[in-house]
Amino acid sequence: MIGAIIAAAGKGTRAGFEKNKLLMPLSDKTVLEQTVQTFTESGLFEEIVLVVSAEDEEILKKLFPALKIVRGGSSRTQSVRNGLLASSAEIVLVHDGARPYVTKEILLDCIENVKKYGSGVAACRATDTVARAENGNITQVYGKENVYMLQTPQGFYREELLQAYENASGEYPDESSVFAAAGKTPHLSKGSPQNRKLTFKEDFSVPFRTGNGYDTHRLETGRDLVLCGIKIPFEKGLLGHSDADAPLHALMDALLSAAGLRDIGFYFPDTDQTYKGANSVELLRKTLGFVKEQGYKPENVSITVLAQRPKLAPYIDEMRQNLANVLSIPVSSVGISATTTEKLGFVGREEGIASYASVLLKKDSKTL
Ligand code: MG
Repeated sequence: MIGAIIAAAGKGTRAGFEKNKLLMPLSDKTVLEQTVQTFTESGLFEEIVLVVSAEDEEILKKLFPALKIVRGGSSRTQSVRNGLLASSAEIVLVHDGARPYVTKEILLDCIENVKKYGSGVAACRATDTVARAENGNITQVYGKENVYMLQTPQGFYREELLQAYENASGEYPDESSVFAAAGKTPHLSKGSPQNRKLTFKEDFSVPFRTGNGYDTHRLETGRDLVLCGIKIPFEKGLLGHSDADAPLHALMDALLSAAGLRDIGFYFPDTDQTYKGANSVELLRKTLGFVKEQGYKPENVSITVLAQRPKLAPYIDEMRQNLANVLSIPVSSVGISATTTEKLGFVGREEGIASYASVLLKKDSKTL
């Protein structure tokens, strides 16, 4: 039986996050989910042991109900030993949870090398010259010929590796060095520069999503003109079921669209009396709630208002400040521009006001 041990008990302090870096987002999943998915979808493993810290145990049990969850130790060496003791596999591949870009090809090559040579250690040829240095002084240059950078997975016969761990004292950087300390010769297997370990903050990409929205409303006498939640003195106002705040409606559609949701007509239908005369700022707050449920928050927004009259320049700062407050982002992240249409079209004829909005949403790591 072939099994895997995925080491996920480290604190990842070098990445500088408040929580385990393996729980940080990577595209639409966390780093650890991505790593585990490659193992499960490969179909190569009958058993996967996940070694975790006491702190993350509950959340990881929920996230991975099909895996065997084992508490780690005070060091990587201790943690892997715990994983080996919990495993019942004949061949076991040990892998860093922080290497989400491992591929099935790498896993297969590792297993083949274990079967052929008794071990398989994923590695890449060094492309830079490797040296040892102490106190800023180079004490030994290894060069790059026949020099390899070791990665994971590292595969072994479990009994043999466990024996090496039982005889080992102190801490080791990886499994191959424990194996070598027991007098064995680890064998290389295929690694890849893409199979890198996510270590520093820069290694983590934060997922962003963009969205666009558009809205227009007719200008009528006897209505208030409300744009971005600000009442603007004018002889006409926008007609609509709600307060007809066109730039806010465009903004809400942009937010919903970026979050992968339906449009405002779906959530706030004009057939619903609840929204008759509704304050669009309140609708915006509700929209933000929907976006937040999807795990996103606005990073910045950009709005264009098309109006032949009135002149909007005197109100732009107030509009920006109002939106910054509602969206909980800095004023500098709220862009509002106003333009006429040179008297062309329905805007130019002062029959209506139109608005475009674009937003950038950022994955909110707190929601993961
Ligand atoms: Mg509208």
